Amino acid sequence: DNAIEADELTKIYGSDNTKVVAMRDATMHVKQGEVVALLGPSGSGKSTFLTAVGLITPPTSGRITIKGKLVQDGETSYANLRSFRRKNIGFIFQKSNLIPFLSAVENIQIAMELNGESKRAARSRAIELMDYLGVADRADNLPSMLSGGQQQRIAVARAIANRPSVILADEPTAALDGHRGRQVMELFAKVAHEQGTGVIVVTHDHRALDVFDTIYEMEDGLMRKRPLETQKKH
Ligand code: ADP
Ligand code: ADP
Repeated sequence: DNAIEADELTKIYGSDNTKVVAMRDATMHVKQGEVVALLGPSGSGKSTFLTAVGLITPPTSGRITIKGKLVQDGETSYANLRSFRRKNIGFIFQKSNLIPFLSAVENIQIAMELNGESKRAARSRAIELMDYLGVADRADNLPSMLSGGQQQRIAVARAIANRPSVILADEPTAALDGHRGRQVMELFAKVAHEQGTGVIVVTHDHRALDVFDTIYEMEDGLMRKRPLETQKKH
């Protein structure tokens, strides 16, 4: 089963005389439990693709199906998009974007409370997740007390807290050194493989590509899947 089906996504910015085709007929299917890297030079359309699949900026045309539900058809989106997004899609950015005055565990907890979970259940799952991601001893620290790698682990915990079917990460290791970056990439693979989540990671970091099941490349708005012989062998 596919967690994500993006079919023939095209995005045109601007109008007649200032038209920019940022993405043309981009198609990507991500299975449950598959972790995908999306590579490509700056300006090639990666963010345009990710924000379309994340149901943030609609494409000009094309279809997006998440967990079997057609949620975006051209510029027309499913009516309850916002709550659908909150339940089904976890985002991770270059910087962890943690709330600075909340402790690590509270940052994770609040994502679940905003989704209607009780404080008690949210706290217990937050602690469980921190344990799973190897940062349990940091529960009561403010984000400013944590290293970049630890902050990203908390951001991953927050992103998976509501058990989304999809995780989208935009340059999540850009601020980390090679070793920490690799550990964060390995977490995405762990989450995908163990929880059945479909994961797309936009990255410039070529050092950890062996972590991924599938590699896509974008150039000038065109997307292609890297041929299988250059993909990781299972
Ligand atoms: P990447 O993420 O690979 O750097 P983007 O998706 O950000 O690429 O950009 C793809 C193309 O679309 C670029 O030519 C960029 O200048 C253009 N673009 C992106 N966002 C906008 C926008 N809001 N308005 C106009 N052009 C845009
Ligand atoms: P699809 O076109 O639906 O992605 P594929 O058969 O191309 O189906 O791939 C299914 C999954 O198995 C993908 O995640 C792909 O990366 C992986 N896969 C299949 N064959 C290989 C291979 N020879 N080496 C590495 N990965 C493979």
